[in-house]
Amino acid sequence: MNHQSRKVLQVIEPQSVMEGAGVRLKRSIATRKLDNIDPFLLFDHFGSNNPDDYIKGFPMHPHRGIETVTYMIEGVVNHKDSIGNSGSIGAGDVQWMTSGSGIMHAEMPQPQKGEMKGFQLWVNLPAKLKMMKPRYQNITSEQISEIRREDGVNIRVIAGEVNGVHGPVTDIVADPTYLDVTIPPDGSFSHPVKRGHAVFAYVFEGEGIFGANSEEQEKIISQPRLAVFGDGDYIKAIAAINPVRFLLVSGKPLNESITRYGPFVMNTQEEIEQALADLRNGTFVKN
Ligand code: MN
Repeated sequence: MNHQSRKVLQVIEPQSVMEGAGVRLKRSIATRKLDNIDPFLLFDHFGSNNPDDYIKGFPMHPHRGIETVTYMIEGVVNHKDSIGNSGSIGAGDVQWMTSGSGIMHAEMPQPQKGEMKGFQLWVNLPAKLKMMKPRYQNITSEQISEIRREDGVNIRVIAGEVNGVHGPVTDIVADPTYLDVTIPPDGSFSHPVKRGHAVFAYVFEGEGIFGANSEEQEKIISQPRLAVFGDGDYIKAIAAINPVRFLLVSGKPLNESITRYGPFVMNTQEEIEQALADLRNGTFVKN
């Protein structure tokens, strides 16, 4: 039988944190309550009308052993890195950056009127690929397939597949799905997810009902909240009186040891110390 709906196991209220040179963020993964959802290591939501909350940005900093995925809803982040990429990530764009052995980059939100809004997700790399050559996929909003269903449900497919429509982000080890889903009032959305894969939903507009098909298992989730799902075959979400917009993210767990220190996530403490030594010695960027 392929018909088991996934239950909501945990609902996470984001924590307010300061990161970079002083950027105010809402963090749901990489907190005391939720260290990770293997293979996902961190999830940040930035959203503010006040440039003071983000203007200091994230000046040049290193990463090793992970992928960072930036998805912008509103506003612009300028970036540049040690493998020669530079440019801007605007509304609806995605940057899927694989740090591998080491990248240095700057991520600087640009001041603007109105809201600066987006997300950053960290995806783990398996031990055998942590020291891979860095790489970078820059996806513009126009490259992202958008499904507009007759019932008003709207799905932007960033990674993974919905009804034969594939997202533009490919060749990622975690076999990820990354969808931006909007459900109008009284609408519903179901999506199959491979058994054993980790899944979370991040509600960032409105509220929706998530979980299994019986009332006692359903949960009403209002923005901003992250829902962690248990195992099963599919995810179901419903909008009642209000519309709901959320990210639906899934991936294949690595089941490896995780040792993290700031922007480095490796398997062992020795590997973290090596990253710090490489930074001191000027041998951090290898490619
Ligand atoms: Mn970064």
